[in-house]
Amino acid sequence: MHEMGIVTHLAKTLDEMAPEQHITKYGSVTLQVGEVSGIITDLFVDCWNYFRDRHPLLKDCDLKLETLPAISYCGDCEKEYPTVKYGRECPYCHGGNTWLLTGNECIIKEVEAETDDENKNEEELVSVEKL
Ligand SMILES: [Zn+2]
Repeated sequence: MHEMGIVTHLAKTLDEMAPEQHITKYGSVTLQVGEVSGIITDLFVDCWNYFRDRHPLLKDCDLKLETLPAISYCGDCEKEYPTVKYGRECPYCHGGNTWLLTGNECIIKEVEAETDDENKNEEELVSVEKL
């Protein structure tokens, strides 16, 4: 299952990041999910809940999902257009020489976590990583 693989990778990434950043507990993680990534959000949340119960660091971690719009680029007329609406055919010149610029990725946009650093109880980490 596609979703399970991504969640596995996400949980692993967060686990690995914890000792580096002195994280004791995760509060939330925000993921940007590409419009044409093929990820089914409901399944994704199910997988997340499964993992959350098994990772002490993620026990109270909320998963926030944001949609990243899909954009295609036309190599003939050099214009960009929304992929979901027009598909592979460019709406300007009706050519087929097009490719996806963005929209099939899954990115960690933001992580909120508590650290064991006494001066900073809550730290907001911004990390952008392709999963
Ligand atoms: Zn075009």
